[in-house]
Amino acid sequence: MIQSDQFLPYGRQTITQSDIDSVIEVLRSPFLTQGPVVPGFETGLSEKVGADHAVAVNSATSGLHLACLALGLGPGDWLWTSPITFVASANCARYCGAAVDFVDINPYTGLISAPALEEKLIQAEKDGVLPKVLIPVHLCGTSCPMEEISVLAERFGFFVLEDASHAIGGRYKGQNIGSCQYSDICVFSFHPVKIITTGEGGMVTTNCPQLAQRVVDLRSHGIIKNVQRFELPPNGPWSYEQQDLGFNYRMTDIQAALGLSQLQRLDEIVDKRQQIHACYHSLLVDLPVRLLQIPNGVFSSLHLVVIRLLESDSEHHRTVFEGLRKSGIGVQLHYHPVHLQPYYRRMGFEEGDYPEAESYARNAISLPIFPGLEYSDQERVVHSLSLLLSN
Ligand SMILES: *Cc1c(COP(=O)(O)O)cnc(C)c1O
Repeated sequence: MIQSDQFLPYGRQTITQSDIDSVIEVLRSPFLTQGPVVPGFETGLSEKVGADHAVAVNSATSGLHLACLALGLGPGDWLWTSPITFVASANCARYCGAAVDFVDINPYTGLISAPALEEKLIQAEKDGVLPKVLIPVHLCGTSCPMEEISVLAERFGFFVLEDASHAIGGRYKGQNIGSCQYSDICVFSFHPVKIITTGEGGMVTTNCPQLAQRVVDLRSHGIIKNVQRFELPPNGPWSYEQQDLGFNYRMTDIQAALGLSQLQRLDEIVDKRQQIHACYHSLLVDLPVRLLQIPNGVFSSLHLVVIRLLESDSEHHRTVFEGLRKSGIGVQLHYHPVHLQPYYRRMGFEEGDYPEAESYARNAISLPIFPGLEYSDQERVVHSLSLLLSN
């Protein structure tokens, strides 16, 4: 229950007694990490989303990094993504020494635009700079146009890595996000603001056994323990081989216990988010704002509820934003366009490069949504918003 004078964050975790019990059980067990619970969480998640393989990692950022490496991304390659995302969707290319470019968004959905992508691919083919990897980002938990993207991937020969950090529990054309029906590999985040949490954590799903094995190997230093896979003759029963330069990106059993427990409630959590979204839909109907659209055939997990202010400019946007914050409503902008971050500007990106993304950032506001949000909280949000919009 949230008091009316309390600050409403835009998102927050829900922890139940059974979540707590599951974590305590691990704390009392012999294994805090590399025990049986991580594989249990991986199996549970792969069954839930319908993927052949799921590999747990310590964050979605690590998952994106390993997925890029598994796809062979490296120096001289290009990775494309949306400018309206968290910086990690672009940074993963930089970790691999690859270059980043962006594709503008569809202003109604906030998602990467398939026509803009096609146009850019046609030009890139002429210029000989086709991407090796595309990262469609399922902003708000709403799936990108994956069918169109997979057709383009086939035609132009690039890999598709879904950044599904917002999207566990979502569906596209009847398929669960994470089933990789239209992609090579997919990454989820379990940061506390996301749909389900492990504190920090992520999961990589794929139907390709080779990609899954690469991610498993690189997650733990590039060390191989299976003698069958050794490059050299084993020098004793104590031996393992480091065959590649990997990392320690492992998830702990403590985290996996929380994740597995939360996963049992996934449908319930997404249902609640659907209800909250529907309430916003009716509460906002008379205001000069527009919710981001959810295309036909897409079931969104509704990680975020984003409105766009109509007939607005950046100054008005800022005023409304600050006004909501002053009334204790933790609105956010998801996201300031990645290409306008100082790090990316130093690579030559500038204002005007992606007009739809930049216009989005001048009038988008994420409203609070999380399972514990009450209807009265929503009324309060919309009331404050309507006062600010009538000024
Ligand atoms: C949260 C998020 C990430 C990074 O997730 P972590 O688990 O915090 O590393 C990546 N991409 C998007 C779109 C996100 O929202």
